[in-house]
Amino acid sequence: MMKHGHAANHKPSRTYKTWQDIKARCSPVYKQHKDYFDRGIRVCDRWLGKDGFLHFLQDMGDKPGGLTIDRRDNDLGYEPDNCRWVTWTINRNNRRYDPQSIKTRCPKGHPYSGSNVGWRRGDRSNERYCRQCQRDWKRNHDEQRRLSKVITQIPIA
Ligand SMILES: [Zn+2]
Repeated sequence: MMKHGHAANHKPSRTYKTWQDIKARCSPVYKQHKDYFDRGIRVCDRWLGKDGFLHFLQDMGDKPGGLTIDRRDNDLGYEPDNCRWVTWTINRNNRRYDPQSIKTRCPKGHPYSGSNVGWRRGDRSNERYCRQCQRDWKRNHDEQRRLSKVITQIPIA
C-alpha cells in the first residue's frame, strides 16, 4: 500500500484521509450515526478490508485539491457508482433538507426529497430527476404497450 505516497506510516494523503473519514462516518458509534449508519449508509465491501484503500484509489483517483467526496444519491452508500469529487458548494446543495438546495419540487410538483430524488449521469455533471415522474412515465408506457397488444390481438371478423 505504498502507492502514490499513501503509506500509513507517513503523513496520510488527502485521499487516504478521505477513505478513513468515510469509514468512520459509517460506523455505528459515529456522533452523527443517525444520518449515516441508522439510514443504512455503508462503505461498499470493495472499499473495505485489506485492499480497500487500493480499490478506493483505483475507483476514485487521487482527491483533487479543494474538493470533497459526495454521494450522488443521499440514500445510497459510499460505492464507486455513487461517489464523486465535488466542490463544497455542490456537496452542500446535495444535503438532505437543505433549504439552500436549488429546486425543491419537480416540474410536476413532486417533492425533490428523500427517495424520490434520482441521479443520472449527464454530459458534464449529474442531473437530478424525479423518481415519481419516471414511475408515472413507465406505467403509462407499459399501459400503452399493453393496449397496443390488445388491439392487435382483436380478431378480424
Ligand atoms: Zn415529478
